[in-house]
Amino acid sequence: MKRSIQEALRWASSFLNQYGRDANVGEILLRDRLQVDRTELLTRLQDPLDIADDDWLEEKVRDHVMKGIPVQHITGYEWFYGRPFTVSPDVLIPRPETEELVAGTLRRAQHMFPQRSTHVCDIGTGSGILAVTLALEHPEWYVSAVDISHEALDVARKNAANLGANIAFYHGNLLEPLLLTGHQVNVFICNPPYIPDPDMLSLDDVVKDHDPAIALAGGEDGLSMYRRIIADLPKVLMDKALVAFEIGSGQGMSIKNMLVDVFGANARVEIETDINQKERMVFAIIHNNK
Ligand code: GLN
Repeated sequence: MKRSIQEALRWASSFLNQYGRDANVGEILLRDRLQVDRTELLTRLQDPLDIADDDWLEEKVRDHVMKGIPVQHITGYEWFYGRPFTVSPDVLIPRPETEELVAGTLRRAQHMFPQRSTHVCDIGTGSGILAVTLALEHPEWYVSAVDISHEALDVARKNAANLGANIAFYHGNLLEPLLLTGHQVNVFICNPPYIPDPDMLSLDDVVKDHDPAIALAGGEDGLSMYRRIIADLPKVLMDKALVAFEIGSGQGMSIKNMLVDVFGANARVEIETDINQKERMVFAIIHNNK
């Protein structure tokens, strides 16, 4: 017996609610399955749902509820800065907060380098969201991206190709590819893993069991990647540069201090909060005297 779309969605939202999951997941999945936008789905609420689609929906909603499988691993993509990015279990699913890192970087870089050629590097690119978005917003910029994971680089390359972004990809550990090639940049952007190791266990299962730990775990205090990166930064920055980091809540002062230790008065550091009033970004304008 076929259910209507509305009946299927009601079942999904009450099942999701019952288990403390996001009640919208059923609608997101069904829209993707039927390839319709929200408005179209609403006009079709009374239509019968094909048995195959209904079975699919039920199975996927159960997977999400019972195993915490993220919706984005079921649909295969997530939107970032207005564009769809392919994701897989090998890359961190893009977070909306990271869009604020892009906006803050664009605003500053456009102001700092209005007519100078801009060389960008994104370290630990993952799915490529930062590098690809910057390259598409500014096709005249030279954008490179690094990751230590071959699997992540495959996803990032695919996103760059699908979305038409021109990016030089390097495999390697943090700044190593830049140091080896002598490549210098004036926009350095990075969303490193920053969750303190002891906090990893208490993450939501959707994150803990499905996002790659390599993209999340930042050592005992969550700051070990910043320490390693900032120590090498003077070697890869041009004489005037913008550094943009995503950070975890409460990490701003420690990262500011690391930058000031290395660059002294040549670094003007700003700590910014995200839309939820949590410390989420550090921007540093640096005059690098080497
Ligand atoms: N914001 C992510 C989370 O809380 C963490 C991302 C990161 O470590 N870079 O799940």
